[in-house]
Amino acid sequence: MPTAQETTLEIDLKALKHNYNYLKSKLQKNTHFMAVVKAYSYGHDAKIIANYLQDLKVDYFAVAYTSEGIALRDAGITKPIMVLHPQPTSFKELMARCLEPSLYNSKVLHEFIAIAESEGQNTYPIHLKFNTGLNRLGFSEYDVKGIASILSHTNAVGVKSIFSHMAASEDLNEKEFTLNQIKTFKAIAKDFTETLGFKPMLHMCNTSGILNYPEAHFDMVRSGIGLYGFGNSEEENHNFQPIGTLKSVISQIHHIKKGETVGYNRAFKADKFQKTATIPIGHADGIGRQYGNGKGFVTIHGKQAPIVGNVCMDMIMVNITDIDCKEGDEVIIFGQQPTASEFAQTANTISYEILTAISQRVKRVIIE
Ligand SMILES: *Cc1c(COP(=O)(O)O)cnc(C)c1O
Repeated sequence: MPTAQETTLEIDLKALKHNYNYLKSKLQKNTHFMAVVKAYSYGHDAKIIANYLQDLKVDYFAVAYTSEGIALRDAGITKPIMVLHPQPTSFKELMARCLEPSLYNSKVLHEFIAIAESEGQNTYPIHLKFNTGLNRLGFSEYDVKGIASILSHTNAVGVKSIFSHMAASEDLNEKEFTLNQIKTFKAIAKDFTETLGFKPMLHMCNTSGILNYPEAHFDMVRSGIGLYGFGNSEEENHNFQPIGTLKSVISQIHHIKKGETVGYNRAFKADKFQKTATIPIGHADGIGRQYGNGKGFVTIHGKQAPIVGNVCMDMIMVNITDIDCKEGDEVIIFGQQPTASEFAQTANTISYEILTAISQRVKRVIIE
């Protein structure tokens, strides 16, 4: 791997392929795979990652918002794209780019149908989301008759899939709850099929659902974090490879005398002679202030250098008193070791958050 000369997120496409194949190995041959590439592919690079997965013949993509789907179409993605949480103000644009909405209550279903009719659409593909316990978005299990009645008045839309989302698929202490979600979803699917007279595609599992609940794979699974290299448990993490490595470089080294302070608000006071290195990455790049004052650390020549004082907007200072290093040397924030998940734990958060926080000004470099 090349040595970083500025703050860089290296993206390893071989690792992405490994993770994709590992997840696929958990599925039946005919189960479809939806790659979740919302939030810039969890902070990596949605255009590059989606195109690579499209070449690997992934079946479907999912994003959160219409604007993210449009960016994928602009980047050459021709596979179906589901938009998990589109707002009605974007329905026209969504249709113009052949994006497929997830609709989660009668209000948005009515609004979508009205626009589909005014655009002269016929069986425009939609997905209906059902709430089975997460209590975030979704029709209730008692809404099936109401949905049937709404749909019986129009040909403008066609239900391609119905789906639900697990609340705690990674937490085996909540197994009973999850099994109950699965049971509820099966009942909804049965009711839907009997009431409407056809069976749409069914899907429910995110990454941890794929790993922990093979009985709930149904017709398709939706994976995000697994593709990027995390299995949400110690054991499963071994089967994945993090695809992103966040690197930087030492800009300057300071010798701090006893009694001197480092950084804003003089948050760090040296109780003895110390050496610090200043690194060009700060909270505007995704390293939040919660990592400051000794919580988070970077790795220089394999050794941990704790963050000293407050995280600045564009810089951090780290303690290198016991590390033999010089200005210009490479710094690892996270990647293989520590992983993003381990780095995130130092500030009591999770891989999902630290990855999606990596800001757009951080240079992305692809490694094939
Ligand atoms: C984000 C999201 C996923 C992906 O979850 P992972 O844990 O990253 O695999 C799947 N389904 C829905 C509805 C989501 O919002």
